[in-house]
Amino acid sequence: MSSGKLSLTAANHLCDIVNNPQSVTWRVSGIDLRQFSTIGIGGRAGAVVRPQSEEDIVAILKLCNDAGLTYCTKGNGSNTVYGDLDILLDMTSLNKVIDGSGNLVPIGDVEMGDGTLLLQSGALLGRSQSINLVSDNFVVPNLVHPHTLESLMFSYRNSLAGLAYKHSLSGIEDLADIPGTVGGATIMNVQAYQQFMGNIVDEVILISPKGKRVVIPKSGRFKNLRFGYRHSILQESGYQGHVLYAVKISLNPGKQKDIQDRMYEQAIERGRNHPKGLSVGSVFKLRGYDADKGGAIDFRADELIRQAKCDDYSVNGITVAKQYPVFLMNSGSATLTDFINAMQYIHDQVKSVTGISLKPEVKFLPYSLTPDLNST
Ligand SMILES: Cc1cc2nc3c(=O)[nH]c(=O)nc-3n(C[C@H](O)[C@H](O)[C@H](O)COP(=O)(O)OP(=O)(O)OC[C@H]3O[C@@H](n4cnc5c(N)ncnc54)[C@H](O)[C@@H]3O)c2cc1C
Repeated sequence: MSSGKLSLTAANHLCDIVNNPQSVTWRVSGIDLRQFSTIGIGGRAGAVVRPQSEEDIVAILKLCNDAGLTYCTKGNGSNTVYGDLDILLDMTSLNKVIDGSGNLVPIGDVEMGDGTLLLQSGALLGRSQSINLVSDNFVVPNLVHPHTLESLMFSYRNSLAGLAYKHSLSGIEDLADIPGTVGGATIMNVQAYQQFMGNIVDEVILISPKGKRVVIPKSGRFKNLRFGYRHSILQESGYQGHVLYAVKISLNPGKQKDIQDRMYEQAIERGRNHPKGLSVGSVFKLRGYDADKGGAIDFRADELIRQAKCDDYSVNGITVAKQYPVFLMNSGSATLTDFINAMQYIHDQVKSVTGISLKPEVKFLPYSLTPDLNST
């Protein structure tokens, strides 16, 4: 079953097994998932659940497994488009630091020791970006691209970037403007300028589809988590039903002024260069390189898209951002089919002009909806 509807009995069962029934949202006709993706593209889910603890995740996964319900997991939805599914797990309520005694501490109250911390996966990396859906229309709140240093640092206060700044820790400042959660950033091994998320991740704690806790250490540079360019083992088929509960992070001592200056610099630069509106950032992987092998750059997808003359392509509510053509923008009306068709067109044009096949960076949930762009 993956109709985007869930029976009242199943929804009641869901409320019974989680600690706080108010963390479950259910509608007879399903819930519009467009509001959970920063590009505003999605089908419907039977229910959306915001787990409040590791125990909640275990209970939800066991229920889905026993009842054959389809579920998918989201962080901030900044790299994701959705089809129809039964249950969406929204991890954004799990956003605290887990201290040495297992207590949950709000990010702003953490006292740092050696720069190592265990964070629940729904904590924000730095910037937040969300959209609201009001009577079928999107409202895109002002993005946090503040004009002053003070307002930028204030906007980071409940995020990993804010924590790093407060405790003079380095390793996150280039990533602070990426609108994802710590979990999504780990799974995607996000990168900006010189920093990769994989460089600061030491270990991850997952819950398997059968509800078992699985701990994967990095153990040696990029070894077990297989971090590569926009890649980690958590994207591979063996881990796709797992939920990432927590991430152990290691930051290095730095100078607070340098950290602050860099956070401000990158926020201003990205605010100037990135297109504004409904997007998931780069739809195609920008670079054809592998971080494991030292980063030999072969191509840039934005240049190939320009070469194939697709940088002013626009169809059915999807427009290529001329300023940065790896971003596809939704004018508000685009559907999942429109989005996939636009990707296919751009992919095929680039392939026929340059011979290079662009790889999708955006994630499709459920994964089975991921188009095979090379099949036509
Ligand atoms: C304006 C803009 C700029 C961007 N700039 C950059 C950039 O500079 N560099 C870059 O690398 N990326 C960039 N991105 C892409 C995106 O922000 C990152 O990939 C981000 O880290 C995704 O995090 P998220 O929490 O939003 O993940 P989501 O989009 O919610 O999820 C991404 C994938 O991870 C899975 N997932 C998320 N959390 C969990 C969990 N806890 N357990 C199991 N699975 C989970 C989802 O199922 C999905 O497959 C940008 C996006 C936008 C909109």
